[in-house]
Amino acid sequence: MDNKQKKKVGFSIGYFGLMMLLAWVFQILVYQPMVLRLQEVPYSEFLRKLESGEIEEVVLSESRLLYTCCGDDEANPRRHNVVRVDDPDLIERLTEAGVKFSAEASAGGLVSQLGWIITLLPLALIWYFLFRRMQQGGASVMSIGKSKAREIAGELTGVKFEDVGGLDEVEVELREIIDFLKDPQRYTRLGAKLPKGVLLVGPPGTGKTLLARATAGEAGVPFFSISGSDFVEMFVGVGAARVRDLFEQAKAKAPCIVFIDEIDAIGQSRASAMSLGTNDEREQTLNQLLAEMDGFEANNGVVIMAATNRPEVLDKALLRPGRFDRQVQVVLPTDTGRQQILQIHTAKVPLAEDVSLARLAQITAGFSGADLANIVNEAALLAVRQERQRVTMEDFDMAIERVVAGLQRPMTLKPELKRRVAYHEGGHALVAQLLPSTDPVHKVSVIPTSKGALGYTMHMPEEDTYLLSKQELQEQLAVMLGGRAAEWVIFHDRSTGAANDLERVSAIARRMVTEFGMTEALGPVRYASDAGMSYLGPSNMMRQDISPETARTIDVETRRIVEESEALAVRLLEERSDALHQIATVLLEKEVIGGDEIRRIVERGDAA
Ligand code: ADP
Ligand code: MG
Ligand code: ZN
Repeated sequence: MDNKQKKKVGFSIGYFGLMMLLAWVFQILVYQPMVLRLQEVPYSEFLRKLESGEIEEVVLSESRLLYTCCGDDEANPRRHNVVRVDDPDLIERLTEAGVKFSAEASAGGLVSQLGWIITLLPLALIWYFLFRRMQQGGASVMSIGKSKAREIAGELTGVKFEDVGGLDEVEVELREIIDFLKDPQRYTRLGAKLPKGVLLVGPPGTGKTLLARATAGEAGVPFFSISGSDFVEMFVGVGAARVRDLFEQAKAKAPCIVFIDEIDAIGQSRASAMSLGTNDEREQTLNQLLAEMDGFEANNGVVIMAATNRPEVLDKALLRPGRFDRQVQVVLPTDTGRQQILQIHTAKVPLAEDVSLARLAQITAGFSGADLANIVNEAALLAVRQERQRVTMEDFDMAIERVVAGLQRPMTLKPELKRRVAYHEGGHALVAQLLPSTDPVHKVSVIPTSKGALGYTMHMPEEDTYLLSKQELQEQLAVMLGGRAAEWVIFHDRSTGAANDLERVSAIARRMVTEFGMTEALGPVRYASDAGMSYLGPSNMMRQDISPETARTIDVETRRIVEESEALAVRLLEERSDALHQIATVLLEKEVIGGDEIRRIVERGDAA
């Protein structure tokens, strides 16, 4: 209220000033000259009238003189206006004629008097506009939280899971939340506690925002959303106020979903946020968010969802139990997922007969849902430009090219390259499966990642490891070398794809020799240098005082360990090349394969 009034006052002062200025300008530039020019009389005429005694009174100003004639109407004397000529005898003549005369501050004098106003006015105006801005900003300090939150007041999104493609597994995870939102009492009656917060984690454009909206749509509850980036560039305290307000409104509308998009913008780890200035604001906002999340009971019907593509920068406090205690991975779509997404986005696009979504899905490995939506749109635009009634496969091909060019992403893998990646990743997975001491495989994928990897194998550590035997370490090395070994077994060839693996392998092997004393030849002596150990972790540096022979032995021993491990991997893969082929085939077909399926393939072969 207070602010509104203040704002109004500011407004009227501004308008008043502006009107004054306009009136003045009008007077000086338009009205005065107009009036003056109307009755302008030549100087000679004035002199003639002066001599003939017709003139009654004269008012002198610097550049003009105004006179009234005796013949004029008494009550409303008409003023005649003469441009003054340089006439040194004027005063004498006036005295002679016996005319009453006086002087008036000239227009020029007026202008010079008003001069300071002219110089001050622009300054005043600038100041005024700045002030108004600040006031608006200032107003926001107190009321923006409210007004903005009102704008986003719980929206019924109407988006359903059928609008989201290729995320079936994630949808299953969210079902429980939807059930809860539909009927909170059913859960509270039994005292069940639901997770307060769900964090959607995944690369940009994979549909996290869409998924959150669909969750609200499926449950039929209001959706309050706010984006972390909204908080950037705000006055200190605004973000916190906004969070408070958002939760207040949400609680009033429970059951509902509060969605914080791009939470990394506020939830960045307090230690890692190095930037000055915004730091304070972010911290306050984050603290408010944490306080709100702790402040209400689970089960009051508000479910908080958040999305990020940079989970690693999030403050640990956010991930503690009772906050975002459930994380859902939203991954890049697989082949079938891409096909579903294409279907969703082409539902309203007339397609030519030659368009095969299955084929499109095949050649768009590594594309996100947003990329695919973009492709469909581009293709439709191309068709429109060609004045075609239907979108053809050619349009799609061109659209893909365009989008790829914009993305600078490794274009779709050529079939032979994909085959190679499939065997490489399959090799890692199979060796891991065959060596029981190593972490079981969780998932293998040959979808190129945006970070440049052509594929990856995800392991699932069963337990934290504190101590590893030499045997276990060597088996781990074998897993890391499994990709390279598989390429050797199948293609009798090496590729650059193993460079990363080799880097990790070499580092571990070297530590086995120089730090863990795991070789007979060198014995239980530490050879690694302690310099640089402090905070950068173990370094690859050697002690300065070791003899050249010892250094050579270290190299030889490191190499021996790596070669032994690789031999182990090659042997395992040759023995079970049947399983390797099967895994690679599944990978080529579906692009991903789960750990369970790999175990099944391996066991089936065992039984045979
Ligand atoms: P994110 O929040 O993960 O960055 P968005 O949800 O904003 O991604 O996705 C942007 C757009 O891309 C969506 O509006 C939708 O049109 C499309 N899209 C992304 N993923 C999918 C998907 N899985 N299914 C259907 N459309 C998708
Ligand atoms: Mg988003
Ligand atoms: Zn590899």
